[in-house]
Amino acid sequence: MARLSYPSASLPASTEELRLRIRSFLADEIAAGTFTPRCDTWLGQHSPEFSKKLGANGFLGLSWPKKYGGHERTALDRFVVSEELLALGAPIAAHWVSDRQSGPSILKHGNDRMKEETVPGMAAGEIYFSIGMSEPDAGSDLANIRSTATKVDGGWLLNGTKVWTSQAHKNHYFIVLVRTTPLSEGGGNRHIGMSQFVMDLRVPGCEIRPIRLLTGHHHFNEVVMTDAFVPDYMLLGEEGNGWNQVIGELAFERSGPERYLSTYPLLSALVDAIGPNASNEAAAALGTLVARLTALRKMCISVAVMLDQGKAPITEAALVKDMGTQLEREIGEVARQLVPPGKSPAFDQLVSDSILSAPGFTLRGGTNEILRGIVARELGVR
Ligand SMILES: Cc1cc2nc3c(=O)[nH]c(=O)nc-3n(C[C@H](O)[C@H](O)[C@H](O)COP(=O)(O)OP(=O)(O)OC[C@H]3O[C@@H](n4cnc5c(N)ncnc54)[C@H](O)[C@@H]3O)c2cc1C
Repeated sequence: MARLSYPSASLPASTEELRLRIRSFLADEIAAGTFTPRCDTWLGQHSPEFSKKLGANGFLGLSWPKKYGGHERTALDRFVVSEELLALGAPIAAHWVSDRQSGPSILKHGNDRMKEETVPGMAAGEIYFSIGMSEPDAGSDLANIRSTATKVDGGWLLNGTKVWTSQAHKNHYFIVLVRTTPLSEGGGNRHIGMSQFVMDLRVPGCEIRPIRLLTGHHHFNEVVMTDAFVPDYMLLGEEGNGWNQVIGELAFERSGPERYLSTYPLLSALVDAIGPNASNEAAAALGTLVARLTALRKMCISVAVMLDQGKAPITEAALVKDMGTQLEREIGEVARQLVPPGKSPAFDQLVSDSILSAPGFTLRGGTNEILRGIVARELGVR
């Protein structure tokens, strides 16, 4: 029977200098009024200006080759920078997906021309990517996608509808998963015949329709492709290998500190709001949250170290995301119960951000039920 394994790991001393550097950068930006800390900024707070500043200061593409604008550091360096950006609630949605998963995917599977056209811009914080996986009838069951790509002279024509495509209306490209071989020719295996493409979101035939939240906020979209042309060199990796590639991409998508730190700015503000003379009830509630956060951080560092070593800790990452997203949701609930509305406009904003974003925490990147299924299967209890 397979077992979950979180080898004891800590961040190397070399990451400390970087942590101090990003902290000082962020303190200066807050002092200059560039941003006010908010919750869930990696999905909702899209600021090209801020992403470009991060790129110019060497905080993006940290582990990527210098040849493509990267800094040839480690994934643990990226972990440290991510922690600081999330903890201070910086506006990081523009570059988040490209820095986390599109860049690594293209560096791993892309051809030279694709890399040259996209990766340096991502490292500079100037080119942004969305994720084109989900469809109206393919969310948890991603293998049910129906979108297609058909070969034509010089490229491919893409047809179909993607949904819940965060920030597609503001980003430049998405990596889109489609069928290049009809389902009927897969011999009953739905994982055969899928491919990934890097598609320019502004090509003719690509219509981006907004899906607004109840709050009026717009980050979701439906992306309708009608004979949208993608040139040959924008086929990512091998034709037909899309399923394996997408599973690799999901390992990056599920394993980062954004899966337990989305509401950290609120937790930090809550500690200040409660103050040094906390009631027993408040101290116990805060202590429980902080203890869980500490354990999750250790698990997440262990996963990051395994990823850095080229391992694929898919089950361990799934459990971190399941437990982490429950925690980030509960932080909002505890804050709401301990501090009545009206404490301060900034505190109320953090509470409402976290409560309104909370339904998405346990859905995005794979729902908690699906993640628990992965863990159960790996443990041999399913
Ligand atoms: C904030 C947010 C941002 C997102 N951004 C993107 C994006 O940029 N790009 C993109 O491609 N997608 C994105 N998504 C979509 C996300 O990946 C899907 O919502 C998710 O995979 C679930 O799919 P679904 O919504 O179709 O729900 P369904 O798959 O229909 O699931 C509905 C419910 O049934 C449960 N369920 C389904 N199957 C099983 C099963 N086998 N066993 C037990 N329970 C099951 C699920 O857990 C869930 O509770 C985003 C979602 C959110 C909330």
